[in-house]
Amino acid sequence: EWLSNKIAAGEVVERPASVVKELVENAIDAKSTVIEIDVEEAGLGKIRIIDNGVGIDEEDVLLAFQRHATSKIKNENDLFRIRSLGFRGEALPSIAAVAKIDMATATGEGAGTRVVIEGGKLLKHEKTSSRKGTDITVTNLFFNTPARLKYMKTLHTELGNITDVVNRLALAHPEVAIRLRHQDRMLLQTNGNGDIRQVLAAIYGVNIAKKMIPLNISSLDFEVNGYIALPEITRASRNYISTMINGRFIKNYPLVKAIQEGYHTLLPIGRYPIVMLSVKMDPILVDVNVHPAKLEVRLSKEKELCLLIADAIKSAFKKQEL
Ligand code: ADP
Ligand code: MG
Repeated sequence: EWLSNKIAAGEVVERPASVVKELVENAIDAKSTVIEIDVEEAGLGKIRIIDNGVGIDEEDVLLAFQRHATSKIKNENDLFRIRSLGFRGEALPSIAAVAKIDMATATGEGAGTRVVIEGGKLLKHEKTSSRKGTDITVTNLFFNTPARLKYMKTLHTELGNITDVVNRLALAHPEVAIRLRHQDRMLLQTNGNGDIRQVLAAIYGVNIAKKMIPLNISSLDFEVNGYIALPEITRASRNYISTMINGRFIKNYPLVKAIQEGYHTLLPIGRYPIVMLSVKMDPILVDVNVHPAKLEVRLSKEKELCLLIADAIKSAFKKQEL
């Protein structure tokens, strides 16, 4: 059991940013409205996430650390209509297998529960404060997987990955106030008022957010909403193109190509736009079950969606010219 958790950890927990992603997604799934993330040494020192979500019942706390124990899928049907971010029940056991987790959680009814688990071993299990929500601290990441630890890039790169992950989650959830701090430095602070432009301003700065125009299109199968930067604002990396499907940040190369195609001749060679697109579609058309990290998705009707997006971007800029 512990060994299979350690193996699963290899897939789910590649780097500190994966831990942050899984834990913040859990906080969002738990209906939190405020999430505070504190990171030290790019997450290799410490990752602490405090949320004000529904918390975990005392009798379910240890269960949450068992593999495939998810409260989010009740039957097989749900598996094909995934709406919550987590669904595999792998994150907590995987992280606990390769790190030390200190978690305090409370539902607001009665005392809270605190557990400390390291390398899959339960070190502490006690009652704690009843403040509603979950406060989870991860330290000693990869302490028992030296090969993985050696694989880490510079702190700068690892921190960059964490920022990317949190930025994207903030964009996908403008209704949640998210704060990311690295040691003494505030890296992101959104206000949770639901306005995507405010999140864009928090990430890219007010001046760039002002130069992003809204894009809203729909067809029978898709509804696309987002913001695209004017072609005069470009970046040297594809990293500034964020795509979301049904509230989940995803990677899909054809979609990125379609966005570039939409800018067409307006982009200098080697330059990429700043874009945030959120697609709503019937979950039955999305296969999110490709990889445990849940980033890559397969789409039915992918060509149709790509054409829709490329056309919408083209006509948005045509309209601007007039
Ligand atoms: P999954 O998210 O796929 O269900 P996880 O291993 O990430 O699996 O979490 C296991 C379970 O622990 C979740 O289904 C949820 O019930 C509970 N849980 C984890 N984190 C939180 C949190 N921050 N607030 C409330 N419940 C949580
Ligand atoms: Mg999860």
